[in-house]
Amino acid sequence: MSDLEMEQVRIQLSEKKEVVDALRNRKQMRRDKEGEYFPVVFNSQEVRFRSGEPKVFGGSVARCLLRSNYIILGDDLTGEMTHVLEPVDSYSLNDLVGNQKCDYCEKLFETPKRLAAHMAAEHSAELGVNADPPESNKPYDKPLAITPPAKSVETAASA
Ligand SMILES: [Zn+2]
Repeated sequence: MSDLEMEQVRIQLSEKKEVVDALRNRKQMRRDKEGEYFPVVFNSQEVRFRSGEPKVFGGSVARCLLRSNYIILGDDLTGEMTHVLEPVDSYSLNDLVGNQKCDYCEKLFETPKRLAAHMAAEHSAELGVNADPPESNKPYDKPLAITPPAKSVETAASA
């Protein structure tokens, strides 16, 4: 039994306007110097959920928070029960073994998937020269920021 929970879930305040409006109408949104937030008490501590700022919890805590925070839209008796918090994505700490730090700019990423996406987006030029054999090159979504050196073409032709 490990104290560390492997599954991590990122959850955020609902992006649905009707949910946020209902929270405001019921005075469940608070305000501090950073702006509006939805307070959730967890482990005797207040967690402040702000619009567009997901927070990461262990899987079982996340599920508990998701389940236990809801609001009734409309009339108390007939209104629809809607969750105030919603899951954004999840990942396993097991997946974090290995390289999470970008070799090029030293930015840190939570999952290998995010690192891979970052490298494809930001460092495709650097990667394209040495990393991939030409036949495995996939077309990139974005045009390369740096003009690929002509040398790599020669290398590919002579190989
Ligand atoms: Zn980078």
